[in-house]
Amino acid sequence: MISPFSPLRKGLVMCVSGPSGVGKGTVISAVLSRKTAVAHSISITTRSPRPGEQEGVSYYFRSKAEFEQMLAQGDILEHDFYCDHYYGTPRQPLIEKVSQGIDVLMDITVPGSMTVMKNYPEAITLFLLPPSFSELERRLRKRGTECETTVQKRLQKAWEEINMAHHFKYVVVNDHLEQTVDRILAVVEAEHCRYVRQSGIESIVLSK
Ligand code: 5GP
Repeated sequence: MISPFSPLRKGLVMCVSGPSGVGKGTVISAVLSRKTAVAHSISITTRSPRPGEQEGVSYYFRSKAEFEQMLAQGDILEHDFYCDHYYGTPRQPLIEKVSQGIDVLMDITVPGSMTVMKNYPEAITLFLLPPSFSELERRLRKRGTECETTVQKRLQKAWEEINMAHHFKYVVVNDHLEQTVDRILAVVEAEHCRYVRQSGIESIVLSK
């Protein structure tokens, strides 16, 4: 629900990071289906689409040259080079959504979250952990979208990423989807209640 003081309410930016296979995409879709004033920042990538992925829905799929051009033009808010491909957040749509009071969830790598944290300290960072490393491996293999070399690369990367969890403000273990969604929404609501996000609210109350 949008606060009755909506003119004061700017959308939140929440960076969601976690190892490949932890279920970030599924969790973000489930959050979106539960809350309408939340959007997903659609990233740009130079990797090829997986079966079922759609242009402009899952990602904007671009060539390396196109990505580098956008980067040079300053159209990308943050980016990372992950497992041989570029991934980046388009700047303009994110800024527009936040100024319209829409909360934006970003599904980004750990270095991506670090960049956002540095340049945009109001952003919230949340790390999704798998219940165990063996369960992560099982989920990654079950997805069946990557070849063995890529799976190995992603597992190695996952190990490094999990060791970065302490840099994040919130950590949620993604064991049961609905519980994970409840926790993320609780964080979003609590963050909206922080005074810094509503400064001046008392004068509005006093003027009525
Ligand atoms: P995948 O290839 O599995 O879709 O994504 C690989 C990794 O790239 C995931 O960890 C995902 O969170 C991350 N990623 C997706 N979009 C972006 C982005 O715009 N920026 C950054 N830094 N990472 C991203």
